[in-house]
Amino acid sequence: MNDGLRELADRLEIRGTLEKEEYIELIQFRDSQLVEYLSQKARRIRRNQHTGAVLVQGLVHLSNYCRNDCYYCGMRRENRFVRRYRMEQQEILDCCARGYEKGLRSFLLQGGEDLYYTEKEVAQILEKIKKAYSDVSITLSLGEKSRQVYKAWYEAGADCYLLRHGTAVDSHYKKLHPGNMSLLRKKQCLWEMKEIGYQVGTGFLIGTPYQTIDQLAEELLFLKQLDPQLVSIGPFIPAANTPFEKQRAGNSDLTCYLLSLLRLILPSALLPAAGALTALDREGRRKALESGANAVAFDLTPDNYQDNGVLNGRRTGRHQRDRENLEGLIQRLEDTGYEIAASWRHEEWR
Ligand code: SF4
Repeated sequence: MNDGLRELADRLEIRGTLEKEEYIELIQFRDSQLVEYLSQKARRIRRNQHTGAVLVQGLVHLSNYCRNDCYYCGMRRENRFVRRYRMEQQEILDCCARGYEKGLRSFLLQGGEDLYYTEKEVAQILEKIKKAYSDVSITLSLGEKSRQVYKAWYEAGADCYLLRHGTAVDSHYKKLHPGNMSLLRKKQCLWEMKEIGYQVGTGFLIGTPYQTIDQLAEELLFLKQLDPQLVSIGPFIPAANTPFEKQRAGNSDLTCYLLSLLRLILPSALLPAAGALTALDREGRRKALESGANAVAFDLTPDNYQDNGVLNGRRTGRHQRDRENLEGLIQRLEDTGYEIAASWRHEEWR
């Protein structure tokens, strides 16, 4: 590691931001020493910010229908090889009840952009969960909606809204999405959520086709500007039966390195260790936590809704459920030295 890179890493830790060219240098010229130097800083910051605790969040994947056609996504509308499902209200409530019984206090209700769920129905689900369990936090991830819908769901009890922007660079966005989708609208949604009062979550993929280091630097600048409370990043994994099925997968080491940079840029953010990392590297989750991540998902979705190309057509994070139960997951984390947090409100983690 040369002195210039060390100085950039130190400056990032102190100021929480760098110029675009400096991010490019940190990414382009990283070596194993710099990776370790930054991950040590990231671990230290996480310990100071959150007493080192790792949030275990209950994931309910309520539907894999989607009206959109993102080129990289196995759930895209045009993928006719996916066995589609959507859960009814009671099934969703049952998933949360199961998670609550097991001690989870933070739930992520996630799905494609499925118009089946109306504003009113989602609001009812939120109200019922909050009425049954006053000590849980709920993150919704149901795609782009109008400001009015976001507001209604916030008032019904949603604490956080996760809307992954995919890429912060318009020219790149256009290469990953059909012409009827707009990065501008996605960014507008994120700013609207902030105004409404949500804890805002967003994210992007590492290693999507046409992505450059220049664009990764733009991502970091955008995230600093948005200042979200949750950032979900993961490696691109080519999904079967999509336009990108023959492309190369993203890099799990680079994903972990970016987690370290993000921990320095957004010290108190929730940074999940993506399930897709485990698909590329059996040690992916451990490495992500060592790089500064502070959350893992436990999938509460019933077994009969199998992973039908949810992420990428390969078996990915969701099949972890087959091999480990929640107790096993928590035990493994504790054995590695992590405290476990069951709930999360951003202000509690500051
Ligand atoms: S990335 Fe999201 S919006 Fe795009 S096709 Fe997949 S589920 Fe739908």
